[in-house]
Amino acid sequence: MMLPQECEASDDFIHKTGYQVRLELDEERRQRRLDAWRLVLVNFENPLEEDYEVKRAEVGNNQYVDYRIADSLNAMLSAAEEEGITIYPISGYRSYARQVSLYRNKIQRLMKEGYEAEEAVEEAGTVVAVPGTSEHMTGLAVDLVDEHYTELEEEQEDTQGYQWLLEHCMEYGFIVRYPEEKKEITGIIYEPWHFRYVGEEHARIIMHYDICLEEYLADIEGYQEQYEEDISKVMTDTTEDVRQAKELQAQAKEE
Ligand SMILES: [Zn+2]
Repeated sequence: MMLPQECEASDDFIHKTGYQVRLELDEERRQRRLDAWRLVLVNFENPLEEDYEVKRAEVGNNQYVDYRIADSLNAMLSAAEEEGITIYPISGYRSYARQVSLYRNKIQRLMKEGYEAEEAVEEAGTVVAVPGTSEHMTGLAVDLVDEHYTELEEEQEDTQGYQWLLEHCMEYGFIVRYPEEKKEITGIIYEPWHFRYVGEEHARIIMHYDICLEEYLADIEGYQEQYEEDISKVMTDTTEDVRQAKELQAQAKEE
């Protein structure tokens, strides 16, 4: 759109045109659509199709993740390393075929242990993801373990590696996907090794409120608004604290 010469320098004029406003809205919508991949939800009620495709990048140890999160994951692991904490990614992307074989193996093992077929199928589903329901198939999930304790057991939470991740994962866009208190909602046991990428903006909110992805997605705007409010409150509180501390200091000097 060409503007008359005398209006060229006026931002005001541009902002007032419906044309510009519409462009901004379109851009916002486009951005939201582009970002949607970060929030894909996979669980028992929301399985992925067998032919779900992920463009992947290798992240060491012969593990792969969605190429869009590789840099964030590597940056997180390097930051831990710089503090002397070595964390290994031991399981990233998992194909549908791989899930099928893990699931079948589990059922067979249970039947050898004496389970009836039907019971074995039911039991297997609580330990190994039913094919299509593993978040690893998105390429956005990764199992991370401390170099000193590499078991996928609850004790992983006592490692330095997990403690570091708990404090910093959101800075790199990751969340603890299956917290202890959310088993009823996620349908998955406590997994202090399974991290999921959702992007920094969402990760900070989810970790701040100790909620799981299912809860967040059920009221994403509500949580975002609440977070903005809470964070700005904290900022003003801090400013107030600093002001009071300075005042006290000044008084102490005078006395
Ligand atoms: Zn996992």
